[in-house]
Amino acid sequence: MTTNSIENNLYCRLGIDNPERAQHTVLETENGKRWSYGDLSAMAKSLAQTLLNLGVQQGDRVSVQVDKSPEALALYLACLRIAAVYHPLNTAYSLVEMEYFLRNAAPRLLICSPEQEEPLTKLAQECGVEGVLTLDIMGKGSLMNNLPSERANDPVAVGLSTSAALLYSSGTTGHPKGIVLTHENLASNAEVLVDLWGFSADDVLLHCLPIYHVHGLFVACHCVLLSGASMLWNRAFEANSAMAQLERSSVMMGVPTYYTRLLALPGFNADSSRSIRLFISGSAPLLSNTFAEFEQRTGHRILERYGMTETGMSTSNPLNGERKAGTVGFPLPGIEVRIEDDSGAVLPTGAVGNLLVKGPNVFKEYWGMPEKTAADFTENGFFKTGDLASIDTEGYVAIVGRSKDLIITGGLNVYPKEIEVLIDRYEGVSESAVIGLPDDDFGERVVALVVPDGTVDSQALEQRLWSSLRESLAGFKRPKQYILLESLPRNAMGKVQKALLRERFAD
Ligand code: AMP
Repeated sequence: MTTNSIENNLYCRLGIDNPERAQHTVLETENGKRWSYGDLSAMAKSLAQTLLNLGVQQGDRVSVQVDKSPEALALYLACLRIAAVYHPLNTAYSLVEMEYFLRNAAPRLLICSPEQEEPLTKLAQECGVEGVLTLDIMGKGSLMNNLPSERANDPVAVGLSTSAALLYSSGTTGHPKGIVLTHENLASNAEVLVDLWGFSADDVLLHCLPIYHVHGLFVACHCVLLSGASMLWNRAFEANSAMAQLERSSVMMGVPTYYTRLLALPGFNADSSRSIRLFISGSAPLLSNTFAEFEQRTGHRILERYGMTETGMSTSNPLNGERKAGTVGFPLPGIEVRIEDDSGAVLPTGAVGNLLVKGPNVFKEYWGMPEKTAADFTENGFFKTGDLASIDTEGYVAIVGRSKDLIITGGLNVYPKEIEVLIDRYEGVSESAVIGLPDDDFGERVVALVVPDGTVDSQALEQRLWSSLRESLAGFKRPKQYILLESLPRNAMGKVQKALLRERFAD
């Protein structure tokens, strides 16, 4: 048990109220509005007082389904300040999904967009939520009416294991689980990343990610806030606009799709990215093709890192040193990573197995699911990520797939990633996804969904794949069927939704 202190509060560790930074720009919006650290701090304090006036207490959940705005960032900071638990929600969630989240998280307060106020107020009442307030994309709404002029009390003293945020896992499979992250989880990870990626007050981050997810909210915003840097604050990613802003930026963070979309712009080249010192990618695997083409076009080797909601960031390619395509780099300082087989034995270098992580970054618990929490940790405190990985002789970690992505055909295991990497190398292929579909004989059969890039005739491409993979893959691993598609379905974070594909092609 740690004693509670104000210094443990993530709000204080990020240095939001630091008077030395008060005049420095924290962000600039698309319409040119500049926010200083002083502005952000004042807004966070006013909102903290608003929440207190509404009866929000330490540990209460505050559910937030709003568009990205500087005020929404201040609302997150206000929750940290009073040690309420911030619960961000994807704006795309339907009312049916919202009902699940509101019943499960049981928040004291829901903040939503004005357009959703009517249906969500009704739903919130049914779910026992006390209050609903609104905040729109321009930072206006009932939350902002009558902001108190008096300043809030000091930030609340917290312990290292005090809950700070509740995020539900992407939901690519199964029922979403609430992941509880503590002040220490988030602060320790931010401190490691700022150091590792060399963030300073001189940096300007091109911020186009959503802020309801680990990547945009914690990785991106925490690195900026902790180092006193600035952001170009975009509501969403749009390739032409991002390219134009690169000359005013020093760092860009994105999901792989952002990088492929930049590459699709004929004008995107070394000149467009001459001000950038670091491109970072994560949330989904960066294809080796994209890595190579990006380097060829810009001279930059994208830094790929790996993490998940439950752990924040766990590994990263180095800032200085070799960034290896197809790998997610080394375990972060203070974080242990190991590869085990299903019986819990640690595997030798190069072997593919279950990836486990231990460290101050690893979440506290699944919300209201003590048995699930216990089942996902080993006896010696490692978290089972559900990802399959290997570590090479130099210590680089490669993510090979997810255990639920594993295909078992005729009793033999097939790792989809292994086949996708091969298919993606062929001329005429833009990308691919390999899935297991039900098979009367083998249990599952391997099926490849391939997106052609239009440079090769489709029939010829299919034939070539049939014949070439025969040379490179064992029979049981080879796809039994190829389906050509225009695109792969992806979720908001750019991840291919294999569950959707399995459903769609099950028959
Ligand atoms: P989420 O909790 O939505 O962030 O999803 C986390 C999952 O995304 C991880 O468990 C991985 O399966 C995947 N992931 C994140 N980053 C990478 C990466 N760089 N390469 C491969 N998979 C990744």
